[in-house]
Amino acid sequence: MSKKVLIIGTGLGALATALRLSSRGYSVEMVEKYHRAGGRLNQLEKDGFTFDMGPSFFSMSYEFEELFRSCNIPNPLQLEALDPVYSVRFANRKKPILIYKDLQKLAEEFLGIEADFEVKMKAYLLAAKKMFHDTEDIVIRKNFNSRIDYLLKLTRVPLRHSPKMFRSMWKELSNTFQSEEARVIFSLVAFFLGSTPFHTPAVYSLLTYTELEHDGYWNVKGGMYRIVEELQRLNTERGVKFHFNTEITSVQTTGGEINSFVDSNGKIWTADIYISNSDAAAFRGKVLKRENFSDKKLDAMEWTLAPFTIYLGVKGKIPHLNHHNYFLGSNFKEYAETIFKTSVSPEKPYYYVNVSSKSNPECAPEGCENIFILCPVPDLRHKPDWSDSNNFANTILQDLSNRIDIDLDKVTLTKTILTPLDWQNQFNLYQGSGLGLAHGLNQVGAWRPSNKDEKFKNLFYVGASTTPGTGLPMVVISSKLVMERIEKDYGSL
Ligand SMILES: Cc1cc2nc3c(=O)[nH]c(=O)nc-3n(C[C@H](O)[C@H](O)[C@H](O)COP(=O)(O)OP(=O)(O)OC[C@H]3O[C@@H](n4cnc5c(N)ncnc54)[C@H](O)[C@@H]3O)c2cc1C
Repeated sequence: MSKKVLIIGTGLGALATALRLSSRGYSVEMVEKYHRAGGRLNQLEKDGFTFDMGPSFFSMSYEFEELFRSCNIPNPLQLEALDPVYSVRFANRKKPILIYKDLQKLAEEFLGIEADFEVKMKAYLLAAKKMFHDTEDIVIRKNFNSRIDYLLKLTRVPLRHSPKMFRSMWKELSNTFQSEEARVIFSLVAFFLGSTPFHTPAVYSLLTYTELEHDGYWNVKGGMYRIVEELQRLNTERGVKFHFNTEITSVQTTGGEINSFVDSNGKIWTADIYISNSDAAAFRGKVLKRENFSDKKLDAMEWTLAPFTIYLGVKGKIPHLNHHNYFLGSNFKEYAETIFKTSVSPEKPYYYVNVSSKSNPECAPEGCENIFILCPVPDLRHKPDWSDSNNFANTILQDLSNRIDIDLDKVTLTKTILTPLDWQNQFNLYQGSGLGLAHGLNQVGAWRPSNKDEKFKNLFYVGASTTPGTGLPMVVISSKLVMERIEKDYGSL
């Protein structure tokens, strides 16, 4: 008889795991706190506009290919490569720098900014490429059973990369480029990992290779939420049952096994196997009540920045914006060093702007654009009070208006603001942290909360705060890793 699996949460990691397991004969049921599937990869529909709520781009698109292929399903997603991949605007320079995949075109953008850019970038990307291919199968795509097992796997990474563990990304970039602009632009990836380029090891320069050369950034035709819609459809076709507005709050156990989980209304949910897609660290503390994940211990961990997001439907087209745009100031080091821990909203914020209607016109009424603004801010440990959210949104919108020469206030048809408190309350993101646990060397691999529970043999984890880490492709890999664990313990059905 097929084994029954209960998955807590319907984020990307959960949906991908459900598809893998249901395609292999497991019977899967999913319980979700929010009113619809997707977790952070969600959608906001308002006043005729459709916004992707969180993720707006991804690299390593072949991880989605692998997911569908492994389930014998043709890939239902229509992906289009973006080029330029993104644009960057500095406060002290009117013209944006467009980041192209083509190295010659990219070099033209750096004319007058960075001498011999092409040669330098080629060398930087080559080193990043070697690092990526020498580590991805050893470190990212493997389960390991102990710290020793992990360290043994690490010994297979060529020694020549080891200085990059001890050098910062900023130092590596400073050794390569003279200009502040090139250093800043190619260090932005450090923030996705939950730190600054001054504290992130240079090993992570491999992300620049995945962004620019290996795979690039992709637009999903129809918007990012198509990923969720397709996964939900395919899961439903395979008999997976979804239950929304259901939050798991406690557990019932006997010895080394979970008997059931209990939701906030007291309803009991039973299965043979349980998988939590809720944050792998916070869930151990809040629901399993583990001492090692008490609030104090969770607060002592390193977390990625929290999102402050604005969704703006505007009348008219905005020619000065691309699909992805970064708006940066002119005090990068100072900003990067203070943004993680400040208790006040930044006066001159750095932010990211996405206009998905540029590539997906159906996401906005005719002649309009949907603008999504993401400003990374301190998590709720450092800034718990968001009563200034309207003022802060105005600061960002005023700055953006000045920099694109359009008074956004005059053309706005709809506006929604989400603070870190909203993100925390909607999806149980710990302290509102947007990408989950950070990726310092003390919180990756065997030092990240494991995808197999340390005490209960029928409990597993999938998602951003377990292995291998955060971001859409990593979470898809996470679903593969947890499936391998389950197949190892319960066999292929
Ligand atoms: C604003 C923002 C922008 C981002 N941009 C990008 C991007 O451009 N590219 C990229 O690759 N990544 C991006 N990310 C990161 C990416 O969204 C995440 O890494 C990924 O979506 C996490 O998926 P997950 O499987 O961990 O599930 P989650 O998205 O965390 O979903 C978990 C689900 O579990 C539910 N849940 C939690 N606890 C319970 C409970 N106790 N009971 C029931 N349900 C529960 C939650 O409501 C949620 O629906 C972004 C994140 C944010 C917040």
